Amino acid sequence: MVLPYGRQSIDESDIEAVAAVLRGDWLTTGPAVDAFEDEIATIAGVPHRAVSVTSGTAALHTAYGALQLQPGDQVITTPLTFFATATCAMWQGAEIVFADVSADTGNLDPASVAEKITDRTKVIAGVDYAGHPIDAPALKQLAHDNGALLLEDAAHSIAGSLDGVPVGSLADITTFSFFPTKNLTTAEGGAVVAPHAHLVDRARLFKGIGYERKPELMDVHGGWYYEVTSLGLNYRLPDVLAALGSSQLKRLEQFKLRRQAITDRYNEGLAGIDELILPGHREGASPMWHLYPLRIQDGRRRQLFDHLRDGGIGVQVNYIPVHHQPLFQDLGHRKGSLPVAEAYSEQEISLPMFPDLTDSQVDQVIQLVRGFLGA
Ligand SMILES: *Cc1c(COP(=O)(O)O)cnc(C)c1O
Repeated sequence: MVLPYGRQSIDESDIEAVAAVLRGDWLTTGPAVDAFEDEIATIAGVPHRAVSVTSGTAALHTAYGALQLQPGDQVITTPLTFFATATCAMWQGAEIVFADVSADTGNLDPASVAEKITDRTKVIAGVDYAGHPIDAPALKQLAHDNGALLLEDAAHSIAGSLDGVPVGSLADITTFSFFPTKNLTTAEGGAVVAPHAHLVDRARLFKGIGYERKPELMDVHGGWYYEVTSLGLNYRLPDVLAALGSSQLKRLEQFKLRRQAITDRYNEGLAGIDELILPGHREGASPMWHLYPLRIQDGRRRQLFDHLRDGGIGVQVNYIPVHHQPLFQDLGHRKGSLPVAEAYSEQEISLPMFPDLTDSQVDQVIQLVRGFLGA
């Protein structure tokens, strides 16, 4: 394969930042983690330090833990996502209810969520598909009117915004992923942010194994004193990786501009072809384009996929609907029950999208797609 669909952008300053930590005193939770968490909070527009974790999956599990999901609770989410959005809630014992998406963005459709909401709904979990922010104002209103909270899986969309409000400040709790194909990387890593301190505190406790050292109790019992009052896991991001994250953050705006420029170039090069649907972009949204999700309507997605792979282009499909997975089929979820997401998924093909992609590589992809369609 010549061209991947996504790829990290690492430069000498990143390598130097990691090497500097390796030469220092702290390998794991030390000053690089604190600095990185402050920087993530700034980008997310939240008043409390972010909670860094070891992956986007760990971020979702930590967020659901902080929301105190329990057996009997329902989570309404989208089928058009990486399945961890749903399965991490199941680790807390919750039941998954899928709602359909909007045809333009592939994001959770508030009207469909409204049909599925019950008094057992504890969380609405939206995903900023491809980097385009969810309709957070509508979804949050719907959640709050029904005694639930809104989680935003922003694995695709750090540095995006909606009506000038940064991703991270839109929902009650937001999760990020720093996997290499995402918008910035710590190799493996993720983070949780929230506007409210109690959720941040619970998230920090959850990712730190539930280990608490309260100064007031240490005064009473002795300097060794600690307490465990809730369940947690070790999801600590090490300093070595946080330093890579901080170094990458210096180029985040540059990455965003380049991703927008690549999107614009695909949009121009693929415009006016009847078989194709180009990614929707709603007014007021400033997406951080993680994917370029092209849709082909003539039933030939498989052929186009193979044609591009044969041409050395590493395309991808994002995603197989989560409710089609055997795990969910076994739980009684039905194929055909979410027609918009299912049609989206059948037509979708993700073209290469990463900051170091050159204009001529983008043009090569456009030519291969046009050639396939005889356009
Ligand atoms: C990548 C991704 C995750 C999981 O992140 P990891 O860092 O790979 O664990 C969760 N949700 C979505 C939407 C993702 O794209």
